[in-house]
Amino acid sequence: MRERILLCLAHMSGKEQDFIKEAFDENWVVPLGPNVNGFEKDLEEFVNDREGAEPLHKEVVALSAGTAAVHLALIGCGVEAGDEVLVQSFTFCASSHPVTYLGATPVFVDSERESWNMDPDLLERAILDRIERTGRKPKAIIPVALYGMPYQADRIMEIADKYEIPVIEDAAEGFGSRFKGQVLGTFGKFGVLSFNGNKMITTSGGGALICPDKEEKNTIMWYATQARESYPYYQHEAIGYNYRMSNICAGIGRGQMTILDEHIAHHKHVQELYCELLKDVKGIKMHENPGADFDSNFWLCTATLDPSLHIKGEENAYKQVITGAVGGAAGVIHAASTATTDCQPNANVEALRVALDKANIEARPLWKPMHKQPVYKNNPAYVNGVSEELFAVGICLPAGPWVTDDDVRYIVENIKANILD
Ligand SMILES: *Cc1c(COP(=O)(O)O)cnc(C)c1O
Repeated sequence: MRERILLCLAHMSGKEQDFIKEAFDENWVVPLGPNVNGFEKDLEEFVNDREGAEPLHKEVVALSAGTAAVHLALIGCGVEAGDEVLVQSFTFCASSHPVTYLGATPVFVDSERESWNMDPDLLERAILDRIERTGRKPKAIIPVALYGMPYQADRIMEIADKYEIPVIEDAAEGFGSRFKGQVLGTFGKFGVLSFNGNKMITTSGGGALICPDKEEKNTIMWYATQARESYPYYQHEAIGYNYRMSNICAGIGRGQMTILDEHIAHHKHVQELYCELLKDVKGIKMHENPGADFDSNFWLCTATLDPSLHIKGEENAYKQVITGAVGGAAGVIHAASTATTDCQPNANVEALRVALDKANIEARPLWKPMHKQPVYKNNPAYVNGVSEELFAVGICLPAGPWVTDDDVRYIVENIKANILD
């Protein structure tokens, strides 16, 4: 039997252990040190590059998670209890949950069809409507690079600038993706990166915040290290967090930076191969860059299934209550109380997921939109039906550095074998 093909799994360069060994040898086994500084420098060099044009001057803070980066970015935008923040609805929960940590309210904005990301027209409508209803402007805007695909960065920035609302780019999945040659995360006031085990590169767990300048970087760093005042004893005048990256994790990050370009190239190659092999398969469509301005890293490759496409076993989809959490998440999970919910992928998508699973291939539905999540059922949402429709028809296919050309062929063969004519 083949080894299981996972959606996206970290791949080491071999250099990680050298950096970690150095940390042990020099006794820097703490949340600061030469690897943290070195990793931040590597990240700055990478994100500031503009393909030959004059480089940017962004500063980067390494943190314990991408979620922590979202949280601190919100604080950096002055978000407080009672405020509203406009968040792309079609995303992983880490884009919106930190808004609630602060006692603020995520207000969800739906997607446009081309990029699957925040719809700029709907964003502007949401801003105007929130001002009219609450008398106040939302405090920040969070677009998300879903599966690595860039959002309409120039249009979103234009609208944000018009209403003077800061943008926090959630580029956790889009590390190394570019819009008009510029790296995602460098357009807005802040940019969020994640180095979780399944992202473009990993530090085992970690994240970073791209900041506009040294001053903002220092503020974020201060909040990330318990907001200490300069006294000989611990004096606190603000609430801080323990969010700094450890020097060990940063050592992994430095090793990973040596293969980042290779990883991105590989993800793009896998995407191309899927496109090539699936181009004549009726009823299945790969999600591709919608234009020359878009340069996705294709963190995950995604496809949509026409509702009229029939997959073997679809009549049995959702007959059983699922017993494990999606993504194989560790820790306590609640058992599902029902086999179905009022918003779920179509039966053909679920049948394909199950069929691939039986062939030892991990596939997954798209993110379920936040405005359809029970936990956010009372939150305001500006909806056009796009994310809900995509969630019903979409599927994520394996794309990581471990996925070989042969694997892609095997995956596509299995997809074809399960289509009923
Ligand atoms: C992974 C992810 C995050 C958070 O990253 P962690 O490092 O796992 O905390 C934030 N937003 C999106 C869209 C993500 O996919």
